Amino acid sequence: MFNKNNKIYLDYAATTPVDKEVLKEMLPYFSDKFGNASSVHSFGQEAIAAIDQAREKIAKLLNCDFSEIIFTGSATEANNLAIKGFVVAKDSYRNLLRLIGTGKKFHIISTNIEHESVLEPLKELEKLGHKITYLKVSKDGFVSVSDLEKNIKNNTLLVSVIYANNEIGTIQPVKEIGRLLEKINQKRQENGLGKVYFHTDAVQALQFLECRPDWLKADMMTFSGHKIYGPKGIGGLYVRNVQNVLNVVMKGKKIRIDNRTSTTSTSLQPIITGGGQEFGLRSGTENIANIVGLAKAVELTFKNREVRFKKAFNLRNKMLNNIIKYNGSVKVNGSLENRLPNNLNLRFPGVSNETLIVGLDQAGVAISAGSACSSRATIASHVLIALGLSQKEAKESIRITIGKDTTKEEIKKAAKIINKTIKIPNPKS
Ligand code: PLP
Repeated sequence: MFNKNNKIYLDYAATTPVDKEVLKEMLPYFSDKFGNASSVHSFGQEAIAAIDQAREKIAKLLNCDFSEIIFTGSATEANNLAIKGFVVAKDSYRNLLRLIGTGKKFHIISTNIEHESVLEPLKELEKLGHKITYLKVSKDGFVSVSDLEKNIKNNTLLVSVIYANNEIGTIQPVKEIGRLLEKINQKRQENGLGKVYFHTDAVQALQFLECRPDWLKADMMTFSGHKIYGPKGIGGLYVRNVQNVLNVVMKGKKIRIDNRTSTTSTSLQPIITGGGQEFGLRSGTENIANIVGLAKAVELTFKNREVRFKKAFNLRNKMLNNIIKYNGSVKVNGSLENRLPNNLNLRFPGVSNETLIVGLDQAGVAISAGSACSSRATIASHVLIALGLSQKEAKESIRITIGKDTTKEEIKKAAKIINKTIKIPNPKS
C-alpha cells in the first residue's frame, strides 16, 4: 500500500517508490562511502568494489558475464546506446574497411509500439540514411513473427522489439523472435551475410517475466531501476560479448573478418564520451548509490517474481470486474491475454481522459493517460493509434497499473471512485 494523505497510487508503470531494503543498501554511498570509483586510494577502491559487486550480482541473475553489463544514467540512455551506439559503430567499422561500405546503409526492424527512447534514436538513424521498417501490431497489440521474418533483408543489421509494452502491457513474442533470428543467422553465415542482431527493451518486463538474455537469445537488453522499486536515474544494458564477425563477399569469395577483442567496446560506439568509465561505453563518474540500488532491486524482483505476478493478476482482474459491473460500455485496449499482470488500459467512450485523470486525482486516485513521457501532453498515444483507435478514442483511454504493495481494499475503493467520477451509478457501500 502506498498511502500519501490517503491517496491511492495506481501508476506503477510510470515509476515505483524505492523499496526500503534497496534504500538501506544505497544510503551509505551518499555519505560514508562517497569515494570516486576512478580514484586509486582506498575510498576509490571501496567505490569500485561496490560497482563490481553490483555488476556481478546482476550478471549472475541474468546468467551472463560481468563484462556484459553496462550501467547507464537511465533506460532511455541504454536504448540510445543499443540503437545509435550499435548501428553507428557498425557503420563506421564497415566504412573503415571499405569493403561493403559503398554507401549502402543498414536496415533496421522495429515496431510501431516502442517507447520513445527507441523511436527517437531510430529517427536519428533514418536521418543518417539508414532504413527502418516499423512492424505494425495487430489490433490486440502484438507483432507477428512471420511478418518480421518477411521483412528481413540482406542488409538488415538490427531488430529491436519491446518485450512488454509500457502503455498496454502486451507481451511481444520476443522468445520466438530470438529463436527465429538464431536460425536465420546460421543460414546467413553460410551465405556470407552479416548477422542480424537482436535488442529488446525489457524495462517493463523485468518485474514479471523471464528476462535472461541467453533464454531470449537477445544480443542486447535494456532495463531500468525506477520501474522495479529501485532508484530513478539508473539504467542498464546487457550487451552480448560475442565475436564481432563480419562476413563479406568480395569478388565472389567469402571473407570472414574477425573484429574480436575481449570487451564489448568494439561492438558499440559510446554516445557519451569522456573519462572512459563502463568499459569506455559510458563516461561519467559512476553513481554508486544508484548502481548498488539497481542491483538490489533486480535481486528482490527476481526473488519475488511469481508471487508478484499472481497478486497483481488477481487485483487487476478484480479492478476490471468492479468497473465492468457498473459500466458495460468500457473497452479494454489491447489483449488481456499475454499481458503484464498489473496493467489495465481502458477506454470510456465519451469521457475525455484528461478530465478523468484530473477528476480522479482530486478524488484521491493517481492514474495516467498512457506513457509517463506523454501523460502531460494532450497528444494521443502512438501505441493506441497503432492498435487502430482514432485520435478521439485514444484520448478517452486511461492506464491503471498496480504495484507490489497495492491492497484489495485500495482496488475496491479506487474502482468505486472511478465509477463515481465517470458518473456510473455507484456500487453500494
Ligand atoms: N522503455 C520503456 C518500455 C519504459 O516504460 C520506459 C519508461 O517509461 C523507458 C524505456 C525509459 O526508462 P527511463 O525512465 O529509465 O529512462
